[in-house]
Amino acid sequence: MSDCLFCKIINGDIPSNKAYEDEKCYAFHDINPQAPVHVLVIPKIHLSSVNDICEENANVVAHIFSVIPKIAKELNLENGYRVVTNIGEDGRQSVKHLHFHILGGKNLTEFMA
Ligand code: 5GP
Ligand code: ZN
Repeated sequence: MSDCLFCKIINGDIPSNKAYEDEKCYAFHDINPQAPVHVLVIPKIHLSSVNDICEENANVVAHIFSVIPKIAKELNLENGYRVVTNIGEDGRQSVKHLHFHILGGKNLTEFMA
């Protein structure tokens, strides 16, 4: 998607601080971190949100969840972390390319909403 911010980051048109990359996904440090460690993991194919996940592309999401523990280990999050994804307006999703926030590096608050 040519007008998608995160597709531009994947293409290298917009610079990012890479944390991990393979053929299916890309991970980079959030520009406005909400915790000492705040990394976004995104599929290289454009999916707008969790709402775009279906049988045909769910393998990409399964793959992302198989690499999240590896990324977390690289980021020294042995003591735990949180994975969050926002969906749509009420979910306060600001970038319409599926992404999973990895948050950690401190004892996070209990609040989810
Ligand atoms: P959302 O609110 O959609 O769940 O999360 C979008 C995230 O993308 C936010 O945490 C925001 O700080 C991050 N973000 C937005 N634009 C950029 C950017 O250009 N570079 C990086 N690294 N992060 C971005
Ligand atoms: Zn995109």
